[in-house]
Amino acid sequence: MTLMAIREIITVPNPLLKQISKPVDKVDDALRALMDDMLETMYDAPGIGLAAIQIGEPVRVIVMDLQEKPEGAAEDAEPVKNPRYFVNPEIIWKSEDTLPYEEGCLSIPEIYDEVQRPAHVKIRYLNYQGEQVEEEAKGLYAVCIQHEMDHLEGVLFIDHLSKLKRDRAVTKVKKLTRAA
Ligand code: ZN
Repeated sequence: MTLMAIREIITVPNPLLKQISKPVDKVDDALRALMDDMLETMYDAPGIGLAAIQIGEPVRVIVMDLQEKPEGAAEDAEPVKNPRYFVNPEIIWKSEDTLPYEEGCLSIPEIYDEVQRPAHVKIRYLNYQGEQVEEEAKGLYAVCIQHEMDHLEGVLFIDHLSKLKRDRAVTKVKKLTRAA
């Protein structure tokens, strides 16, 4: 059994969130321990995606679990756990057509707004075992991987909004985190 730890998620306007994350040299046990902690932290929050920089680690690592229900499942069925791990992810193709989606972010609690992103992307990354994978992502998967990959460049979903909305979001989160 591995012991996992729930880490603190940093929030705006922490300047670390603006930092560009560094590529990973090697997928080893230390990196897998980080990914385990990230997944635990994400489930606890709860959220569907987390980039390492959100727990203050500036490396190109993302965890995700869209927690979708199985095909044809009943309304009240429990979502199935499907953790995904992405090391050094790259977008190798993106569609012209875009998908609007109301996004949120664990580093910007209680703020939701619509962002337009390519509806369909092809990605390349190393998985939990360090194997290279190429995959197509559509729908929520495409939205989430692009949102998380933005974090690796120091970009937040509110950076896609107007300056007015962005400033308002940061002010709200500051108040919220001060009150906590
Ligand atoms: Zn985020």
